[in-house]
Amino acid sequence: NTKSHNGQRWHLFDVESSISTERHLKLTSFLKSAIAHEQFSLFFQPQVDLGTGRVFGSEVLLRWLHPELGYIPPDEFIPIAESSGQIYEITEWVIEHALRYQAEITKLLPEHVISINVSGRDLSRRELSVQLITLINELSLAPSQIMIEITESVTIGNEAELKGVLNDYRSIGVKVAIDDFGTGYSSLAYLSKLGFDELKIDKSFVMDIETSKSNQSICKATCDMAHSLGSKVVAEGVEDINSYIRLQAYGCDFAQGYFISRPLPFNEFKSWLNKVTYAGDIKSFLVR
Ligand code: C2E
Ligand code: MG
Ligand code: MG
Ligand code: MG
Repeated sequence: NTKSHNGQRWHLFDVESSISTERHLKLTSFLKSAIAHEQFSLFFQPQVDLGTGRVFGSEVLLRWLHPELGYIPPDEFIPIAESSGQIYEITEWVIEHALRYQAEITKLLPEHVISINVSGRDLSRRELSVQLITLINELSLAPSQIMIEITESVTIGNEAELKGVLNDYRSIGVKVAIDDFGTGYSSLAYLSKLGFDELKIDKSFVMDIETSKSNQSICKATCDMAHSLGSKVVAEGVEDINSYIRLQAYGCDFAQGYFISRPLPFNEFKSWLNKVTYAGDIKSFLVR
C-alpha cells in the first residue's frame, strides 16, 4: 500500500516535471520564429511626475502573443531566451521598435522619457551602444530621454562589465536605471560608485505599502538614500490613491502602476496621453 502510494506520488511528480520540460522545449522552439511571425508587440506603462502631476515618461514592456499558446508572460519567456541566447536578437528588436515609437510619442509630448528593459546577458554586448547611437542619430532623438533599466540582481558580481557599459551609455548621453531595487543586495558603496540616474523601488515593497509598516520604512529610506546619492526614484506597483499620496509625501519622484494605468498597446497609450495632457494634475483626472 505504502509502496503503491509512493509510486503514485513519484508518478505525479514525474508527469508535472515532464509537462514543464515539454513547455520549456516548446517555448524555446517557438521563440525562434516569434520575430519573423510578428508575434511580439510593445506595451507602454505611463510614469507620472509626483511633483507636477504630469506624465514623465513610460516603460516599454514586451508582449508575446502565440497563436496556439496565447499570451506568454515575459517573466516566463525572458529567462528562456536568456539561456538559449535568443535574448540578443529580442533586445535589439525591442530597442529598435521602442525608439521608433519614442520618435512618435515626442510629437505629442516633447519631454517624454522612454524606459527600456535590458537583460543581464545584454550587458556584455557593446554592440547595443552602437545600435543606440545609430538609431538616436537616424531618428534625431534626445539621448537624455532614453533610460535603460537593468535589474538589481544582475548588477551584482558584474561590476567591471557594468562599469564599462555604464560608461558607454554615459558617453552617448543615455540614462541608466537600477530596476527592482530591494530584491538584490547592493551596498551603498556600490550604488554610489556606479551612480545610477534612477532607482526603481520593486513593486513588492510598494503594492501593499498601506498595510505594511516595514514597507513604509523601506520606501521612505530608499527615497532619502537615493536622493543623497543624486538619483531620482520611481515607485513601481502603485495601485491606489493612498499609496500615491504617501509616496508623494516621502519625496518619491515618479510613480508607475495600475492606479495610473495598466501597460497599454501603443494606440491606446496615445489616446490616454491625449486625454491626460489636458487634465493638468493626473491625480484629479484619475479620481474623477
Ligand atoms: P519590470 O521591468 O519590473 O516591469 C514591471 C512589471 O510590473 C511589469 O510586468 C508590469 O506590468 C507590472 N506592473 C506594473 N504596475 C503594476 C501594478 O500596479 N501592480 C502589479 N501587480 N504589477 C504591475 P510585465 O510586463 O509582466 O513584465 C515582467 C518583467 O519582464 C519586467 O519586470 C521585466 O523584468 C521583464 N521584461 C518586460 N519587458 C521586457 C523587455 O523588453 N526586455 C527584457 N529584457 N525584459 C523585459
Ligand atoms: Mg523594468
Ligand atoms: Mg521593476
Ligand atoms: Mg521585475
